[in-house]
Amino acid sequence: RAREEGGRTLHYFSASMNSRAFQKVSMEKALEKALADQQFEVFYQPKVQIADERIVGMEALVRWRHPEMGLVSPAQFIPVAEETGLIVDIGRWVLEQSCRDTVQWQKDGFDPIVMAVNLSPRQFRDPKLLEDVLATLEATGLDPQYLELELTESMLMENAEEAVKMLRKLKDRGIHISIDDFGTGYSSLSYLKRFPIDALKIDRSFINEVNTNPDDASIATSIILMGRSLRLKVIAEGVETRNQLSFLRVMQCDQVQGYLFSPPVPEPKARELLVSLGAGGTSQKVA
Ligand code: C2E
Ligand code: MG
Ligand code: MG
Ligand code: MG
Repeated sequence: RAREEGGRTLHYFSASMNSRAFQKVSMEKALEKALADQQFEVFYQPKVQIADERIVGMEALVRWRHPEMGLVSPAQFIPVAEETGLIVDIGRWVLEQSCRDTVQWQKDGFDPIVMAVNLSPRQFRDPKLLEDVLATLEATGLDPQYLELELTESMLMENAEEAVKMLRKLKDRGIHISIDDFGTGYSSLSYLKRFPIDALKIDRSFINEVNTNPDDASIATSIILMGRSLRLKVIAEGVETRNQLSFLRVMQCDQVQGYLFSPPVPEPKARELLVSLGAGGTSQKVA
């Protein structure tokens, strides 16, 4: 804000700071109340295997249903939750809810799929992360092989030594790790080799114009090739058209996520998608 306005007048600057500080405090209070009053919901977006167009996973994306404001998007409240530390409690709740739903789908006879849960920097730094995740798996009865944690490049690079140790501990239990928004951060390729990860998610900014912008096409193709040669799964985010899907199929990308198949949806709708698209990749099993 200050930069936008060029810091023209001190009056304007301090007024906007005050209102921001106010917003943060009132948002923090509202988030605490939201946790206590169970105003959070988890929406699910399918990860579709390109080879057979079946659902092989779901990503849990948190939503806040505020009594007056309606549905609030994570872009609006995750940053405040992160700053205040509330993200740790919210994240624990998202993890538990999504593990429960995954177990229920299995109990209801769907072929098992992998549940992906986003971690924020604060959660990843939390010394109790491993303990919390293991306790949640235990409490919900989800087999660790059906849990995937999505992290970003910057979270890994911030303290690479510690990150490698934490990833190893999670991997040792059978939990999968993927790198979200891949291509937008600064990860050195040599580090990529050292991190015990399973999948790269190509950021949707490279997918958007993949059929018309040669630079985006090159970047997406390079990520797919690199991922394949490092034996990582590659997932494209933000796939909205059949054209984008065709490009990704030709380039041998493994999975896609995006509005083409479904936006993030509430649990009952997610269950309908498991029925209509089918759960569990067939070619995955044959391979
Ligand atoms: P993300 O993990 O990269 O999630 C992908 C975002 O792209 C989601 O936005 C999803 O709704 C949106 N998206 C999916 N397909 C398409 C598409 O085809 N086109 C377009 N234009 N967008 C698409 P959402 O749900 O608003 O989440 C935004 C971000 O908030 C997430 O980015 C993630 O970083 C964060 N987030 C969401 N839920 C959680 C959570 O439970 N914990 C944490 N720590 N972060 C979360
Ligand atoms: Mg994600
Ligand atoms: Mg992403
Ligand atoms: Mg993204």
